[in-house]
Amino acid sequence: MPARTRTPLLTGGCQCGAVRYALYAAPERVHLCHCRMCQRATGGPFAALAPVRRADMDWTRGAPSERRSSAHAARGFCAACGTPLSFRHLDGDWIDVTIGSLDDPDAVAPRFNYGVESRVAWLRRIDALPDRETGPGGVTGGGEDA
Ligand SMILES: [Zn+2]
Ligand SMILES: [Zn+2]
Repeated sequence: MPARTRTPLLTGGCQCGAVRYALYAAPERVHLCHCRMCQRATGGPFAALAPVRRADMDWTRGAPSERRSSAHAARGFCAACGTPLSFRHLDGDWIDVTIGSLDDPDAVAPRFNYGVESRVAWLRRIDALPDRETGPGGVTGGGEDA
């Protein structure tokens, strides 16, 4: 079925808007991957990934650049703004989108931790950290520790 006749279940894209995508099925095996490759590829303590079958996903604006992150996998990102967008095995039927790039990151929740041999020890303590909301203009941080 042509993509334009399908109704997206979820949509997402990069920070600058150059690359957009749509998912036409609910992601399965949603997970966090704590492996060192995912830590470096995202710049965060883990990658949050929502896999869908490649047939249930379309790039709807622009296209990601891809980097071969290993002999078996490629990671998609926006060449203009750098947002990490996807992960896929080169010979697989699935593509994982980054949960943070979804328009509603709360729409899917991870059910597994992968790569736990590299999980940072402080992750289990983040619920105890003081909470601060993002300020005007997207300013974060500050407070008594600044
Ligand atoms: Zn972008
Ligand atoms: Zn990983």
